[in-house]
Amino acid sequence: MLKDYNIEIAKIKSGHSEVNFNIDRNFFSLKANSLISDGNISVLLNIFKKEGLFSFKFSVKGTISTQCDICLDDIEMLIEGEETIFYKITETPKQSDDEFVYIDDSIFKINVYDNIYEIICTTVPMVKSCEKNSLTPKSCNPQMLKYISNNNDDNDEKKITTNSIKDNLNR
Ligand SMILES: [Zn+2]
Repeated sequence: MLKDYNIEIAKIKSGHSEVNFNIDRNFFSLKANSLISDGNISVLLNIFKKEGLFSFKFSVKGTISTQCDICLDDIEMLIEGEETIFYKITETPKQSDDEFVYIDDSIFKINVYDNIYEIICTTVPMVKSCEKNSLTPKSCNPQMLKYISNNNDDNDEKKITTNSIKDNLNR
């Protein structure tokens, strides 16, 4: 549930404290159109508090189930990432800037669900492949690659070449 990711500000002790989250498919099912549907990730949140200032340092590590962008095979991928967010309590509402996320002193909890989701997403490369990203690296599925290249309209040139090779062989 989303509220499992609430951090109650008033309960945070001065100095250092830690919160752990274990993430699986339930986490991703809370997000509409999630880019990731399954995984096994541990999140360590290190909180440092000093007066009206908080730093939330998120460290995520684990695996996600995803697809190779080249051959579409399912792959298990290792992910690891870190990010720190600084919060500052203000009496008057203030727009967050590059340095701080300002929180009104009437707010008593921060929900970190979106922060965790975004950190996980940023650890995923634009193009994932069996060879580079799979937990058990392998070559792309050759049958699928053949199928894709045969069905790709942009590959007309290749088709012609393949056909002419075939024609030559048939002669
Ligand atoms: Zn592949």
